[in-house]
Formats: sequence, structure tokens, C-alpha cells
Amino acid sequence: MNSREKSEEPIEETRFDWVRFADPFIWRDKSINGLTWQFLEPEEGGKYGSNYRPLEEKPELFDEFWRLDSPEAIARFAAENGWLGLAAYNQFDNFPGEFGEPLHQWMSHIKEMKVVLVILDLVQASDSEALREFIHWDQPELVRFGCRIDGERVRGCDKQLRNANFRQEVLASRDFGSQNFKVWQKGESLGPAKRFVAMALDKALHKQVSPRLVVDPKGTMKAYYYPSSLIAALWLQVYKQAIGETRFRKCDICSRRMDTTENRTNKKVHNSCSLRMRMQRYRRVNG
Ligand SMILES: [Zn+2]
Repeated sequence: MNSREKSEEPIEETRFDWVRFADPFIWRDKSINGLTWQFLEPEEGGKYGSNYRPLEEKPELFDEFWRLDSPEAIARFAAENGWLGLAAYNQFDNFPGEFGEPLHQWMSHIKEMKVVLVILDLVQASDSEALREFIHWDQPELVRFGCRIDGERVRGCDKQLRNANFRQEVLASRDFGSQNFKVWQKGESLGPAKRFVAMALDKALHKQVSPRLVVDPKGTMKAYYYPSSLIAALWLQVYKQAIGETRFRKCDICSRRMDTTENRTNKKVHNSCSLRMRMQRYRRVNG
């Protein structure tokens, strides 16, 4: 075999992989300092299942993650994809999973990713009009992001509410990020929305990804970003979409994202969705 026939994939051990368990995941109540929390853990203590490579094998996994809407859906996701790796993400020194993964931490990542993706989609569509409800120019030099999470929907919100479904962020003020006022037009929404995405991704990825250098079989030195955990990998997928390293379009049938990064064709639906439609049609005709 000459070098041209060899795979151009990065050399195996440099790539991020993650463990799936053979057991189903369940929720258990645990008492910590008199408070009861729900923790997710593999039912039988976590028998080894298999290793997989989320970044290469499941480029659309983040789009599945942010749609999780119940503890049951989270448990099914974990059974298929493993822990989020919150212990590694939070840099506790205990073994990941020793105490399970708390529901509120899963929920906070789900909500945050939902908000970031809604804003990122609008930014990538340059939809200034729709972004206007999220970006508030309180004073000439105070710009704030505000939204409310309402089930699957994320709506702009001008009020400052004290509840878990409200998300706000100061994007620029006289003391913080004031250089933006030289670039933004007064009252504009697109520039501040981009800054919101940047700030949210910076926070989500801070100390979570290490650059690695891989040498491909042709001897070319290439960049590879190595996440610390599954949740860091999911945020890395969002980051790659934001900088245009990956491209997605929404499936005409299920409206979920399809990775079209390598695709020069005009594929409009997932293969699985098109198969499902064909099966339904077949059953209608023959059933
Ligand atoms: Zn689809």
C-alpha cells in the first residue's frame, strides 16, 4: 500500500473518543446537606459497552442534545452516548460518575445550548429584525441580551426576571467592551448578537479544549481540537458551526440539522427520514 491509499484521517490515538455503557441509565435521588437532588447513573454501576468518536461519527449530536426535554429523554441519550463527563468538565478530582450527574447541570447546558443555537441561526441568516427582540439598548452605552426559555421556544425578553428560564447578559457598557460602540451602529442587533454568541461559547469552552497537532499520512501537520469531555465536544460542535468550519442545513422533513460540510450535493432530507417516509407510504398503500 502506498501512502496515497492510506486514510487521510488523523492518526487514531490523537482523536477524541468516549465510552458508552452496556447498562441503561436511571435517575436516583441523593441527599446532600439535607437537600435532595436527582442524579443520573448507569443502572448496574456501568458495565463497559463500547468506545466511539462523537466528533467524527456524530457531527449532529449537539442538535439532538439541546432538544432533550425530560429526565427520561436525558436517560435515553446517556444510554446511547455515555456520560456528559460533567466531573471532567467541572474539573472535580473524583472519578467521573462516582456520584452520578445531577439533573440541574444537564438542564443548564441544554438550556444554554438552545439559546446559543437560536441566536447563532439568526446571526448566520443575518436576520437583524428577529434579533431585535433579544438585544436591548438600555442607554446609548449599555447593551444587554435578554431572553426567556419557554419549552422549545426561546423568546426575546426586555424585563429582568428572577427565574431559571430567564437568561441575560451585559454585552457592552461604558466599563466593559466599550470599544464595540465604535463599531456598532446605535440600536443595531446583529453586532451585539454576534458578541453574545462569542461570549457564551468562550464561557462554555474555557479550559475545555486542547489543541493537538496531528501529522497525516502525507506528512502534513494539521490542527485537531481535543475536548475534555462529551459536553465539551458538543460545545465544540457548536463552535465549529459558528466559525463556518462545519455547515448544516435543516432537513425538510424533521427540521433537524444535517451535516453538509463535505457535501456538494443538494441533499434536502436525512436518509433515515426519507426511508421513514417511504415506509409510511408503503404501509398506506399496502397495509
Ligand atoms: Zn430529518
